[in-house]
Amino acid sequence: MSEPTKYMNDAPGFLCPACQEFRIKLSLEDFLTKGEVTCGNCGTPFQMDKSRCTSVVEKLHDLHIANKNVEMLKKQSL
Ligand SMILES: [Zn+2]
Repeated sequence: MSEPTKYMNDAPGFLCPACQEFRIKLSLEDFLTKGEVTCGNCGTPFQMDKSRCTSVVEKLHDLHIANKNVEMLKKQSL
C-alpha cells in the first residue's frame, strides 16, 4: 500500500486556474463536507460537483477513513 502514503506526503492541491499564481490546497475535509474551495490569492470560488466524479469522491472518502484509522492506531500505540 504505497499509494495512500504517497498521497499523504504530497499536500493535495491544484494551481488556481483563474490567477495561475496560487496553489489551492484542498483538504479532504473541505472537499467532503463543503464541496467548495476558495483561492487564497484571487478569492475565486471553485465548486466541485461530486455527482460528476463519484468514483473519485468514493476513493477520497475511503482514504479519509483510512487516514482516520491510522491516526487512531497511532494514538493507541502511544
Ligand atoms: Zn486564484
